[in-house]
Amino acid sequence: MASAAKSPAIAPPKVGQTRLLIDGKWCAARSGKTFGTYNPATEMKIADVAEGDAADIDLAVKAARRAFESGPWPKMDARDRGRLLNRLADLVEQNLEQLAALETLDNGKPIRDSRAADLPLVIDCLRYYAGWADKIGGQTIPVRGNYFCYTRREPVGVAGQIIPWNFPLLMVAWKWGPALAAGCTIVMKPAEQTPLTCLRLGELALEAGFPKGVINIVPGYGPTAGAALVKHPQVDKIAFTGEYKTAQIIMTDAAQTLKRLTFELGGKSPNVIFADADLDAAAVGTEFGLFFNQGQCCCAGSRVFVEEKIHDKFVEKLLKRAKARKVGDPFHPDTTQGPQVDQAQFDKILGYIEKGVESGAACLTGGKRVGKKGFFIEPTIFGGVTDDMPIATDEIFGPVLSLLPFKSVDEVVERANRTSYGLAAAVWTRDVGKAHRIANSVRAGTVWINCYDVFDAGAPFGGFKMSGIGRELGEAGLANYTESKTVTMSLD
Ligand code: ADP
Repeated sequence: MASAAKSPAIAPPKVGQTRLLIDGKWCAARSGKTFGTYNPATEMKIADVAEGDAADIDLAVKAARRAFESGPWPKMDARDRGRLLNRLADLVEQNLEQLAALETLDNGKPIRDSRAADLPLVIDCLRYYAGWADKIGGQTIPVRGNYFCYTRREPVGVAGQIIPWNFPLLMVAWKWGPALAAGCTIVMKPAEQTPLTCLRLGELALEAGFPKGVINIVPGYGPTAGAALVKHPQVDKIAFTGEYKTAQIIMTDAAQTLKRLTFELGGKSPNVIFADADLDAAAVGTEFGLFFNQGQCCCAGSRVFVEEKIHDKFVEKLLKRAKARKVGDPFHPDTTQGPQVDQAQFDKILGYIEKGVESGAACLTGGKRVGKKGFFIEPTIFGGVTDDMPIATDEIFGPVLSLLPFKSVDEVVERANRTSYGLAAAVWTRDVGKAHRIANSVRAGTVWINCYDVFDAGAPFGGFKMSGIGRELGEAGLANYTESKTVTMSLD
């Protein structure tokens, strides 16, 4: 593995906003408490951020409720809601460099990724949903009898949105875009590890002109702020992205008030390489599919099934690429892999690497931390992995790839589906029929053919099985934020 040069080419940005956004105003937490957010590359504290809990959530939810029921928001033409979303997208574009740097500072992802992947996807998502705002219509229904019957799609109400730390700003866009286009109001709880870019987006939303109370942001911890949001009787819906174990708690907590729930959870996605694939392209896509974002992607292609005939040839190509990754200072423009987000993730990943070795898999490259400061881990590849090893069954959420040889199509489909997850899958082959047979038989919400991690705001994303409930993005993503109302009028 190559190491990136030390000198940062880009100066870290100013921190900016660290308070709660409630009812259009920035404020301290009622308790006066704060928590630290840390730079994972240096382990140094970046800033103290207001720590919201149940009292702040209550104020934020009441503000969102008021904004939903009275004031300018419910009266606003749908097209004007779209214009506000477009204005926010413009402001993000104007502040792209600063937001990208803030994301890299708080999360540790390489600046080249923040700039070229996260931020453009954020802008695209906001603009995509801006376009939907005035196109959310119902149907006229030909019912029996002398009646006029139609449906309306109305906003679901106050949306509680709880997001993780792996794509802090992109997760905000995926959640705000459809909710605002549909006419909902929002209380968002960003992840405790990475609250800074969400707060900056709150500033830009006020600048764009969103009315007070439409967007509220309450940073804090899951079991306090997050749980209070889930349990609040005036919240109509919870959209959550994170671990399935947290989703189970949320489902239980939300039962009392019967909230609408959408979940985007983890995965152990199979990436299948057939002998007839373009092996160079497959090696590039396989490296990207697992190591992108330090392996911290819910759809990471962590189970790489390689057809036996080309196993060694493919692995040689993949190893070369893994060893050439540049691990180091995320602010250096050449760096391709930054640190993991925090100590807990770092320890968990190194624990899995140990388990991989103990269970008899061969560590072909990597396996150790990089340096003495910061949560850097070498790009790691295990060979000789069997389906039952912990590194093949559990979501590791780090730069650890497992190679699993296979012989036939039927065998690989059965093994690919032998998991409780079902978020994504990929297949590499030049045989179109085989590609589509696999796409139809793998139980996953997204299948990539001869590519990986291709996202578009218009293409729905979400999981089968324990990888989630509902879909984000596309028209499907809007449905989560609307209720259907049937109106029937007598024509007699
Ligand atoms: P991760 O391992 O990615 O941090 P989590 O599911 O733990 O995944 O966290 C995702 C988000 O869920 C974070 O914003 C976190 O604070 C929040 N969260 C954690 N526990 C709860 C809970 N009991 N109720 C509501 N939100 C929670």
